[in-house]
Amino acid sequence: MQFELAIIGAGAAGYTAAIYAVRSGIKTLVLEKGLGGGLANVSPKIENFPGFESISGMDLMERMKKHASKYADIHFNEEVKKIEKLKDKFKITTDKKTYDVKAIILCTGTHYRKLNAPGEMELTGKGVSYCATCDGFFFKGKKVAVIGGGNTALIESIFLKQIGSKEVYVLHRRNRLRAENSYKDEAIDKGVKIIYNTHVESIKGDQNVKFLEIHNVNTGEKSKLNVDGVFISIGEEPINFLAKELGVALDEKGFVKVDIKQRTNVKGVYAAGDITGGLRQVITACAEGAIAALSSTEVLGKQYPY
Ligand code: NAP
Repeated sequence: MQFELAIIGAGAAGYTAAIYAVRSGIKTLVLEKGLGGGLANVSPKIENFPGFESISGMDLMERMKKHASKYADIHFNEEVKKIEKLKDKFKITTDKKTYDVKAIILCTGTHYRKLNAPGEMELTGKGVSYCATCDGFFFKGKKVAVIGGGNTALIESIFLKQIGSKEVYVLHRRNRLRAENSYKDEAIDKGVKIIYNTHVESIKGDQNVKFLEIHNVNTGEKSKLNVDGVFISIGEEPINFLAKELGVALDEKGFVKVDIKQRTNVKGVYAAGDITGGLRQVITACAEGAIAALSSTEVLGKQYPY
């Protein structure tokens, strides 16, 4: 067996798991369907990762990639299609080849949640986006709305103002933000207008987004908001199809259930990072990755190094 452990997904959790696994003497393979970094890549600035007062998500993830690549075999652009649990091993089939391993750490993260509003699908790429860092530049001097009330929505609204969007609205369905106050204060300082109790009924346009049909959830009053772009920032959903295939237990929102050692209910399968739900911070993803890697020593016949 060329590799003993496969880590699926090269975000903060996967990179950290790789560093800890190889340093514990485990022959480790990391399989990543894209270029790595996960959703942290699109965070314009991270100010709560100790040691870095302020760093862009992309920079931080590039540093982790470089660090992990020193240790582990990381196969980028190789997508895992299937994992089978055999008697005493797992058979992984990717779009390139197959591998047998004795343990797996699922670090597959999350993807953006859809609003499921009429017009959303048709106008994606024509003014509807899920990532201000990626697409915000096209809305310099334009009027945009960010939908959502979490940290990401507020950070994206600040970013849009900073890059020169003329008017930036945050549309939130409740009367209270989920985001931390510091983001709320900064957004208001920068001139972002937060509209509460607002439901977006549909996104209208033809070649490009033209306006949103919205209504106030308390009064029922309907109105139109003219915008050139809309950023949907309403959270994330776990990428759990491999977990499901392996018979791994999930919580009611589809996140992988783990114990304190990042073990799932399936022997030899661990999970770390956003796929496990919880705080979903870069720092917690790293911590979980480290714990999962060290825990995997128990099924690999290695000595727990601490
Ligand atoms: P989130 O915290 O889950 O917030 C999602 C927001 O979207 C909530 O305000 C929610 O409204 C709203 N929402 C959900 N479904 C909706 C729907 N169908 N229609 C309209 N609104 C909807 O997601 P997030 O902001 O992407 O953050 C994800 C995680 O990453 C969180 O744990 C967050 O703390 C973390 N994060 C941290 C930082 C940081 O710097 N510390 C930065 C970014 C993200 P309700 O409030 O009504 O539920």
